[in-house]
Amino acid sequence: MKPFGTEFCDHFVVAEYSDGAWSAPVLKPLENLSLHPAAHVLHYASSCFEGFKAYRWADGKGRIFRLHDHVARMQRSAVSLSLPVPDADTLAGMVVDLVHHNLADIPEPPASLYLRPTLVGTLQNIGAAAAPSSEALLFVIASPVGDYFAGGAATLKLLVAERERTTEQLGSTKTGGNYAAALGVTLAAKEKYGVDQVLFCPNDDVQETGAANFLLISDDEIITKQLDTTFLHGMTRDSILKLGAELGYTISERPITVDELIDKVSTYEACLSGTAATLSPVGALVHQGKEIPVRDGQPGPNRAKLQKALQDIQYGLATDTHGWLTEVG
Ligand SMILES: *Cc1c(COP(=O)(O)O)cnc(C)c1O
Repeated sequence: MKPFGTEFCDHFVVAEYSDGAWSAPVLKPLENLSLHPAAHVLHYASSCFEGFKAYRWADGKGRIFRLHDHVARMQRSAVSLSLPVPDADTLAGMVVDLVHHNLADIPEPPASLYLRPTLVGTLQNIGAAAAPSSEALLFVIASPVGDYFAGGAATLKLLVAERERTTEQLGSTKTGGNYAAALGVTLAAKEKYGVDQVLFCPNDDVQETGAANFLLISDDEIITKQLDTTFLHGMTRDSILKLGAELGYTISERPITVDELIDKVSTYEACLSGTAATLSPVGALVHQGKEIPVRDGQPGPNRAKLQKALQDIQYGLATDTHGWLTEVG
């Protein structure tokens, strides 16, 4: 299978917003978009997206994980960017139609179909820097993706950086500009310290990396930052916290300082959470030029246990008691 995000299903679904209304969504062969060079998104970054997965079960049907929660998050992103807000049922229907059309292209678990709804402002007006885009394009593309941990769960090295990933205003918005903003810092950290990612900890507040949430996990506790506007509210994070509580872990959603982080990793596992990789083990931190191992530097047993609890639901090996799956087929 090709690298994550580089292979696409041959159809996508598109809807357009103009004159105050959305067009009926159309499923059609994947093609290039046609945008006017003055399109709002190209100048003023009016864009947001979602990322989540559908799985194919042994019964041949598809199951989309937390579809309605992702749709709701996309609506919140659109609101925060003053973009036209897609109707929840319409957007969910676009995703379901695409998954239905591509059922045969969903690889067997642990592989899956990654889904990427995207909303961009298309108003043709470079004078609209301080005005919302009254026209928009909404589309959903699908990408078959392999097992993230096919080569085993490689541990990550993170730079602990006492600076922000983005602004507080957009921290919980899944918008392109946030990734562009974090990129320079992350590239510099890779080059200088040989790390994989940057853990953003502005004002002594351990937040998240460029595209994943951060959790500390022991045999009986999961610690992660409480929800606020400074970071992206991951569905994987939320799912792991709910499953963790059911498995008997104490869930501590509270601020983590850098000192506490450095102190805790001698005994706690550290993980990044996100749709692409579920739970990635962190093996080391770099802080003030010093490398600090996370426990023995190896993936820990609690990560494996929690990841399995989540994947068992996604793959149909355990009952979905939370109503997280949308059946397609
Ligand atoms: C998408 C994303 C996450 C993870 O969210 P999930 O819903 O778990 O996939 C975390 N942080 C950032 C910045 C993200 O963009």
